[in-house]
Amino acid sequence: MSYQEHYRRAFENPASYWAEQAKAVSWFSPPKTTVLETESGSYCWFPDGELNSCYLAVDLQIEQGRGEQVALYYDSPATGVKESITYNDLQQRVARFAGAMKNNGIEKGDRVVIYMPMIPEAAVAMLACARLGAVHSVVFGGFAANELAIRIDDATPKLILTASCGIEFDKQIPYKPLVDKAVELAVHKPAYTVVYQRSMLKAQMHPSRDIDWDEFQAQAQPAECVVVNGKDPLYVLYTSGTTGQPKGIVRDNGGHAVALRYAFNHVYGMKAGDVWWGASDIGWVVGHSFIVYGPLMGGGTAVFYEGKPIRSPDAGAFWRVIEEYKVNSMFCAPTAYRAIRKEDPAGELAKAYDLSSLRWVFVAGEKLDCSTYEWLSGLLNVPVIDHWWQTETGWPMTSPMMGWESPSETRLGSTNKAIPGYDIRVLDGTGNELAANETGNICVKLPMPPGVAWSIWNQPQRYKEAYLSAFPGYYHTGDGGFKDDDGYIYITGRTDDVINVSGHRLSTGEMEEIVSAHPCVAECAVIGASDSLKGQVPVGLVVLKSGEDIDEAQLEEELVARVREEVGALACFRKAVVVERLPKTRSGKILRAVLRKIAANERYKMPSTIDDETILPEIEGILARRGVVRV
Ligand code: AMP
Repeated sequence: MSYQEHYRRAFENPASYWAEQAKAVSWFSPPKTTVLETESGSYCWFPDGELNSCYLAVDLQIEQGRGEQVALYYDSPATGVKESITYNDLQQRVARFAGAMKNNGIEKGDRVVIYMPMIPEAAVAMLACARLGAVHSVVFGGFAANELAIRIDDATPKLILTASCGIEFDKQIPYKPLVDKAVELAVHKPAYTVVYQRSMLKAQMHPSRDIDWDEFQAQAQPAECVVVNGKDPLYVLYTSGTTGQPKGIVRDNGGHAVALRYAFNHVYGMKAGDVWWGASDIGWVVGHSFIVYGPLMGGGTAVFYEGKPIRSPDAGAFWRVIEEYKVNSMFCAPTAYRAIRKEDPAGELAKAYDLSSLRWVFVAGEKLDCSTYEWLSGLLNVPVIDHWWQTETGWPMTSPMMGWESPSETRLGSTNKAIPGYDIRVLDGTGNELAANETGNICVKLPMPPGVAWSIWNQPQRYKEAYLSAFPGYYHTGDGGFKDDDGYIYITGRTDDVINVSGHRLSTGEMEEIVSAHPCVAECAVIGASDSLKGQVPVGLVVLKSGEDIDEAQLEEELVARVREEVGALACFRKAVVVERLPKTRSGKILRAVLRKIAANERYKMPSTIDDETILPEIEGILARRGVVRV
């Protein structure tokens, strides 16, 4: 069946299309109800189907003969540790850990906060929760104590699972003091913390509150998989909202299992036995969907990498991993490739490795600029596929379907076409649908397909307000962009990344594309600075490629000319400022919102997700010297 036929079926009769796809999942008892509209107006799929997500990811794979297949390749360049964990090994470790949690009172529906680095025990912990029907909430290991405390208070876990430390390049980051501080700050006090002691750093244990990971499970018997319903929550994952209070995105078991199976096979084109690498962290949605659950539920082998794209030990780290594990396909954010490119512009390091196992690579999470796209495609000589999704959806909304014959061609600047089940529309501010090539709010006509979050933890009403109220009948993605004549989607950025110059709405993403195409530029951010005459004017913050020493005035002149040439004089792009580095989240996204505040001379709060707090004052100083902001 062609993509068009799939799309048509999912569009005309979503319930029948997804009921058909749900047959790929081994339910204990198949769903009687396919889809249910909730009180908030969202849609819950397969609410009464009985299943267990850990069973699907682990036990089922063994029943199907994959017991000796590697489930996870753990690779940690900073510690030099590598481990090949088969499905049999994984089942033993997960069942035992689940048994230990059960002995300690964890039951179906209880919450467990996981604050751990990228070590296999973190995946074991997630799967063990799923085995018991407990709800895990993984908090990115690196969030400050206060952020962890906010999440503890919202999720009210019975238990916290942590490790003595994480590793950033070659630096040890002690986790335990952070957890202790968070527990101190939180109003809700979890009964105890289980600590995995890493050999390089032993955490101080609190005698009455902390339990050693090994002791915790020393006497435990393996636990069986608990039957849960499709609508029961599998996990809560916090993501930033427009307020300081993060949104606890709730993922159910049923729709999630159907969606991930579909995505792994059809979107990513992976089969059982293939090697897949989600180069991210379990603290983010990619880690949930495509490091742990997706590849395992699909019988794949997942790479579990505790390292960075560069300085691990060099910018050839990714290529080494691809060769060593014969990675068939991978996913990461474009920022990783930009970091590699900055260190190794000619891609010399890649030439030392055999990358022939790669069929295609996926990128998402932020805009893929054409220049990085071209560099990477030229280097790898395989399709580089930009696709688009967000924490809330849990799986892609647009992508070519690599598992089917003749997937849509990639188109420069586009994240490709809507995946069957996503009826993507571009609406103007009043909810009218825009014509092809007109930029507006990217929305999805309800119902959303299975797997998409349909509630916010503890606050179902907030779900409605955040996603369903702006455009009744639609899910509001918060992204701006357009659709071309052939239905390809182009994401120009968050709707709040649009700047208004003399009444003209302009995409900073578009200008970034042009600026980053300059041969001396490694990466950039274009922000709207306050302008008393025009409201806002764009300013480019530019990071040069290693070894480039172009005169700043000359660079500025060239960039201004390029933007004028490609966007027009109305863009008023007149200033480009060279900076050493850009402020990013730990997952690699440029922190544009805070840059906007700085550029607008507004007070800002240090974002909790920031990678390095010293960057913002550094940039403020540079902008002040260049007269962009007042001191
Ligand atoms: P998150 O929920 O943190 O994964 O962020 C999701 C947001 O990242 C989306 O709403 C988009 O703004 C952005 N995003 C994700 N994928 C892409 C992409 N391929 N191109 C451009 N922006 C993207």
